[in-house]
Amino acid sequence: MVARHDLTTDPEIQEQLLTVRRGTAFWHRKVHELSDAELDGPTLLSGWTRRHLIAHVGYNARAIARLVLWANTGVETPMYASPEVRDQEIELGATMPARALRHLDDHAAVSLNVEWRDTPADLWSTIVRTAQGREVPLSETVWMRTREVWLHAVDLDNGARFSDIPESVLERLLGDITGMWQKRGTDPGFAIEVLDRPDLGTLGAGAGASSATAVTGTLAAVAAWASGRGASALATGQETEPPRWL
Ligand code: ZN
Repeated sequence: MVARHDLTTDPEIQEQLLTVRRGTAFWHRKVHELSDAELDGPTLLSGWTRRHLIAHVGYNARAIARLVLWANTGVETPMYASPEVRDQEIELGATMPARALRHLDDHAAVSLNVEWRDTPADLWSTIVRTAQGREVPLSETVWMRTREVWLHAVDLDNGARFSDIPESVLERLLGDITGMWQKRGTDPGFAIEVLDRPDLGTLGAGAGASSATAVTGTLAAVAAWASGRGASALATGQETEPPRWL
């Protein structure tokens, strides 16, 4: 018998599943607000139309579902056969009729949700490998998807803003990004102050240094800037260019 509720009893994972479901609903709402003709319009991601982005988000759900399958079966199933296959899939997906594209997006998300729901409690710590080659527990896939649906809803460029994204998601996102800069040594010496979250302290490699490049703004503004989606909402540091993080 198939369970109608999450099999995991871990409150933290349950909370994260709630957040990814909210994000998925938000993403779908923004997609559904677009007419078929508007799908041909540009996104915030250079070179990608909304068709590319919707195909990507749909195929991303399928790719993450392969990791859930991996944990459930013990048979290694990577997200994508190769980066080239991933890119070709998106290019081809973008040419589908609007109805088929929307169906892919909806159906892939529903399937992924069912896979998560039916994953037994003891399998959430199973180690799987992301497309970037990172070894992570299965529970991390919820966060990977959370990031995708919330950020790409903004990228659709039809009204979603960083301030629509839950604070817990923005906070973790900013931690991921500054952590990646630190790991790669690409932070040129930022001292980042999050004005509405002073408890986060000063972030960045320049924290405490007199030569630091100051960047200040709300959590939403700083997260938008750090993820490469514009600096205009920052209070200071608008001229600074954030390093790549993905
Ligand atoms: Zn993406």
